[in-house]
Amino acid sequence: MKTHVKALVVGGGAVGTGIAYHLAKAGWDTMLLERDELTSGSTWHAAGLLPLFNMSYATTHIHKYSVDFYKSLEAETGLNAGFAVVGNLRMAQTQDRMDEYMLYSSVAETCDVYHEFLTPKEMKERWPLLRTDDLKGALFHPQDGYINPADVTQAMAKGARQHGVTIERKWQVDGYKWTGSEWIVSITKMVEQGGNLVASEETAEIRAEHVVTATGNHAQRTARLLGIKTPAIPVEHQFIVTEPDPMLQEYRKNNPEHPVLRDADAKWYVREERGGWILGPYEKGAPARFEYGVPDSFRADLFPLDLERIEAEYMSMIHRLPSSETVGLKDDFNGPICYTPDGNPLVGPAPGLRNMWLAEGFSFGITAAGGTGYYLAQMMVEGEAEIDMASLDPKRYGNWMTTEYAARKNEECYDHVFILHHPDEEREACRPLRTSPAYDRQKARGAQFGQINGWDRPNYYGPVDAPASFDHDSRSFRRGAWWKYAVEEAKAVRETAGLIDATAFTKHLVRGPGATAFLDWFTCNALPKVGRINLTYALTPTGTTRTEYTIVRNGENDYYLVSAGAWTAYDADYLRKCAEDKAAEFGHIDIHDVTTQWGVFAIAGPKSRDILKEIIKDADPETALSNKRFPWLSARKIELGMCPVNAIRVAYTGELGWELHHPIEMQNYLFDLLEEAGKKHGMKLVGGRAQNWLRQEKSYRAFGTELGRDATPMEAGLDRFIDLSKDFQGKQAMIDTGVRFKCVTVLIDGPSDTDPWGKEALLKDGKKVGRLTSGGYSVAFGKQIGMGYVSPDLAAVGTKLKVRMLRQEWDVEVVEDSPFDPSNERIRVNG
Ligand SMILES: Cc1cc2nc3c(=O)[nH]c(=O)nc-3n(C[C@H](O)[C@H](O)[C@H](O)COP(=O)(O)OP(=O)(O)OC[C@H]3O[C@@H](n4cnc5c(N)ncnc54)[C@H](O)[C@@H]3O)c2cc1C
Repeated sequence: MKTHVKALVVGGGAVGTGIAYHLAKAGWDTMLLERDELTSGSTWHAAGLLPLFNMSYATTHIHKYSVDFYKSLEAETGLNAGFAVVGNLRMAQTQDRMDEYMLYSSVAETCDVYHEFLTPKEMKERWPLLRTDDLKGALFHPQDGYINPADVTQAMAKGARQHGVTIERKWQVDGYKWTGSEWIVSITKMVEQGGNLVASEETAEIRAEHVVTATGNHAQRTARLLGIKTPAIPVEHQFIVTEPDPMLQEYRKNNPEHPVLRDADAKWYVREERGGWILGPYEKGAPARFEYGVPDSFRADLFPLDLERIEAEYMSMIHRLPSSETVGLKDDFNGPICYTPDGNPLVGPAPGLRNMWLAEGFSFGITAAGGTGYYLAQMMVEGEAEIDMASLDPKRYGNWMTTEYAARKNEECYDHVFILHHPDEEREACRPLRTSPAYDRQKARGAQFGQINGWDRPNYYGPVDAPASFDHDSRSFRRGAWWKYAVEEAKAVRETAGLIDATAFTKHLVRGPGATAFLDWFTCNALPKVGRINLTYALTPTGTTRTEYTIVRNGENDYYLVSAGAWTAYDADYLRKCAEDKAAEFGHIDIHDVTTQWGVFAIAGPKSRDILKEIIKDADPETALSNKRFPWLSARKIELGMCPVNAIRVAYTGELGWELHHPIEMQNYLFDLLEEAGKKHGMKLVGGRAQNWLRQEKSYRAFGTELGRDATPMEAGLDRFIDLSKDFQGKQAMIDTGVRFKCVTVLIDGPSDTDPWGKEALLKDGKKVGRLTSGGYSVAFGKQIGMGYVSPDLAAVGTKLKVRMLRQEWDVEVVEDSPFDPSNERIRVNG
């Protein structure tokens, strides 16, 4: 056996095999280890469906790559992976579901995924066994279907071997040790004993520069071996196979196979199987399994069928396919299917570790295997993938995450596979968990919360006496019932003042002798002078945007970094790793994550200074907040009543305003003080939805939408925050990349009841020329607003484009950056 390789992939399911194939194809010397047989994890019992339908831009790219790649495998390997391109029909029982498909259609258009809409009549004509009288319509993907999971894995394995991969079966990885330049991986030969797979005495070590773990249901054991946390925990998933259906057999004499059928409102998929049907429900009550590891006795095994749990879905299949009523059950499968709390797999660098890559938590692993292999190999070999993989990054869950949280959230996620995926959806399980102290006060004032990175943050303030179901019932693909509250909040910020809880912001202290030199290299803007702040970006080595920071300089070598609340562990990991790498060059750098020690309220609006003046304690309260004593983009320590506050004069909403960073234990005191002072000035409590609209009026880019690892800061239009006179990480790569596309702000004359969600395609002469990454409603302009990317020749102010919403084209105009108050007069106003 080889003992030295460039890359070691652990796990021979569909995912590990797809990764090994692509790493080898990219030229890396790769080995794959499997503790049992290839496909003996979840892969062997998958139904093999390859749905293209997905609301996420990154995941849609991954799935699309797989579908195309699997079609090419036979020519490359000579092995037929059993890809039945029967298409995939997603039915809709309600208008809301049709709205969902129309929004999906936008995502599909941005990713070039072909799809059609069908009416009930068209469906009935093509598939007469279907009951369609109670349907509104359907979405049809003619190009996907289902595949044999074991065969496609074997085909990828053969392709991998052809590219030079060594595949070793019956070797289990039992330990990982990082030497500083490579991993020493301890492995044990596994042997059969009475049907069980047990460890033998034979052990060995493999040295690998890079390791990828793709260990499926064993992810919790892998995490323990690595000393990290991961929320990848399986949930039970069952499907049943019926006896042959005589009416189906008759129909098939003259007709092709049915597409994979999905009655999303009934929560199931159905496909043909040897003259009968396979029914796969996503029912309520499926339990999490293997929270603490997979027992040795569980190999390619299944759980007992729980027919009662899927009775409702079974009955609804009979309703939709009446011919299935008389056929009996032939077979059943109830296997573990790995999940994560948001349903996305964990793909990318492991937290805290070097050259250790995770590919865990796949619930659609057959569909995702090829694409994951392709994009992960790009990340490993070239430094970054061509799409932003942040939404799949393992570090989107922080250290606050526990087994109990992951298990309960994963059960919820399974149950939610077929719910309406409203973009304003908020899920209920495990909440509230992380709250700022003012949570109860905000709730009492009508706050409707959304969860991000475990934190509950006000999305908007609804009626104080709202029933518990208010937010749920408010959701829509158009303007939900919450919309009018967000409008009032946005107006308050523009006209009087608003108070926003931004406690979840990620906060780091960076100090020590090497801090200044390090941050100067780590970020692209000039560092602020002591007492000042700036907005800046950390780049990837390939020149794209990794993190947006507000940097406050408290002293010569003393900095306070603020970044997005959703990305604490993601930002912390990169910051620490880069600082470690540079400590020898720049001197000692101390990094502290102080996120949970400091609360943040952002007060913004023309009255914000007057409100603060009432409560500031200062020798001269009248001038304490004036431009002279507290200029825009500066930081001061102030006292509000008895609360010491590190105030920063910035406002993400584009109004006069301050961020008030305060000791978390004084938050309620400060909240009461501000609320009381704000009363006579008409201050309103404001949630995240209004803030998101307001920042678009100022063209403020947001991380995860406009900003990510697929665009450079120059492409994001952030030239004024890039100091080209200095050297910084990613600078040359950014320059070499040039400007492939450009971030623009647009105003839209859209439909009267719908705003864009930031998922829509931008069109010119009917052709896709870009996509929106953010969208919403502008109170300042009284119409829809959005931000997105187009080719540079279409980025000029005044360019007329179209956006497709609700399957119609609407007028779009590219406007100047910061269309509202472009010269920042409102922010700089003196007083
Ligand atoms: C009933 C059912 C139906 C499904 N239907 C579909 C479907 O239609 N479409 C779809 O896309 N997905 C489907 N899935 C999900 C799909 O099965 C999984 O997402 C996919 O198989 C995951 O592949 P994987 O390679 O990540 O994990 P696995 O297939 O579980 O492979 C992980 C491998 O790692 C090995 N391993 C673990 N630890 C070690 C170690 N320490 N050393 C060496 N080897 C190790 C294991 O032995 C295993 O072979 C279904 C799942 C179920 C349960």
